[in-house]
Amino acid sequence: MRPNLMTPVAHRSHLKDLDYSVVQQCMHCGLCLPTCPTYDATQLERHSPRGRISLMRAIADGELEATKTFGEEMYFCLGCLACQTACPAGVNYAELFEHARAEVEDSGVLQSPKRNLIRAFTVRWLFLDLARLQLAGKLLRLWQQLGLQTLVRGSGILKLLPPRLRELEAQTPSLQPQFSADLIAPVTSAVGERKYRVAMLTGCAQDLIYSDINRDTVEVLARNGCEVITPPAQSCCGSLHAHNGEWTLAQTLARRNIDQFPPGQFDAIITNAGGCGSHLKHYTKLLADDPAYQKRAELWDAKVKDIHEWLVEIQFQVPPNQLETRNSKLETLATYHESCHLCHGQKITSQPRQLLRAIPGLKLVELPEANWCCGSAGIYNLTQPEMAGQLLARKLNHIEATGALTVATGNPGCLLQLVNGAKQRGLNLRVVHPITLLAEAYRQSETRPH
Ligand code: SF4
Ligand code: SF4
Repeated sequence: MRPNLMTPVAHRSHLKDLDYSVVQQCMHCGLCLPTCPTYDATQLERHSPRGRISLMRAIADGELEATKTFGEEMYFCLGCLACQTACPAGVNYAELFEHARAEVEDSGVLQSPKRNLIRAFTVRWLFLDLARLQLAGKLLRLWQQLGLQTLVRGSGILKLLPPRLRELEAQTPSLQPQFSADLIAPVTSAVGERKYRVAMLTGCAQDLIYSDINRDTVEVLARNGCEVITPPAQSCCGSLHAHNGEWTLAQTLARRNIDQFPPGQFDAIITNAGGCGSHLKHYTKLLADDPAYQKRAELWDAKVKDIHEWLVEIQFQVPPNQLETRNSKLETLATYHESCHLCHGQKITSQPRQLLRAIPGLKLVELPEANWCCGSAGIYNLTQPEMAGQLLARKLNHIEATGALTVATGNPGCLLQLVNGAKQRGLNLRVVHPITLLAEAYRQSETRPH
């Protein structure tokens, strides 16, 4: 008999199997509540970290079964981890959250034919093999380069689409004319003496939309004494899968990455995407039930470095000359938006600011609520557009209030979210990765007399 997809079936319970010391950490003090964007917006306990953890614990204790409401609650959570930073008891919300979403997926409580189809195509097929993703990227790029996207948008035909599809279409990112493998050699020599040998992870969506940032990262690393190994065919880090309840696929991708980049061969394994880095540093826990990978996963976790973290660690070179900006003095005024998974997930807060402040001629103005989520949160802006839109508006209001015409941020999801928001609002705002600003400063210091 075929299983009814709408009926929960017997499954492994991720929450019941989870180390109970993680499940029972929360002491219900509520100190995390003011930092939680969904609680702030609704003032409802169920939309707070404390409320969500209580639900997770009830399932772990066998008092509650996973239900549709539980599933929806877990997907209303941004996974921004602001609660983890605020928590005095050291609750590991990241681990709870990933296991709770895996519980939702394994229990099937949110299944529907439409959802199953979308997930099967995206999370389980497209993002599992980057050759497929690149092929899709090339087709989309062709569509954009031939002007068909502009033509279709101008024709008014999109008005026939349901509003939600129209909104999604408007958010389609512009793909880079060249992907990372076209811009970066498999081996880039260090400029001057080689001090380090590092691997560079080019990412999945990052490779299609922000391959220029990957190129800038490799250039900056080389200028700081790193030989950079960048194989053209890489794998997704698996954060998309782990954050969306696909535990087994996340494990598969982790093993693939460890096999491709044996951590013993590198001084560091570099990522320039906050969301990826936060996941990449926890392969040991992800592969805890795989003795064949345990030792290598531990070494892997120790070697993964966010680019800002690594550059500060190796005492990066400060560019000597002033940063030339496009055409206005005002553009030297920049602000910094913190990617949630860089600041809350990896606790990297001072290094990007240190790096930006070191760029001569760039004046950094602090952004109010810099570590408050912008609403991107992986694919949250696609699945929860209303909440994501509110958070984006709040973020843009703060950016506008600073008077900065440049906002730097270290995660592709945040970059894309802010680019789309600035476009919708008609702002003259440059949204840029800090590493690109540093790369520009290095280049300009070469072309101008010291
Ligand atoms: S991860 Fe973010 S949205 Fe989810 S409970 Fe924690 S603070 Fe709230
Ligand atoms: S998660 Fe931490 S801060 Fe929030 S209620 Fe529990 S113990 Fe308190």
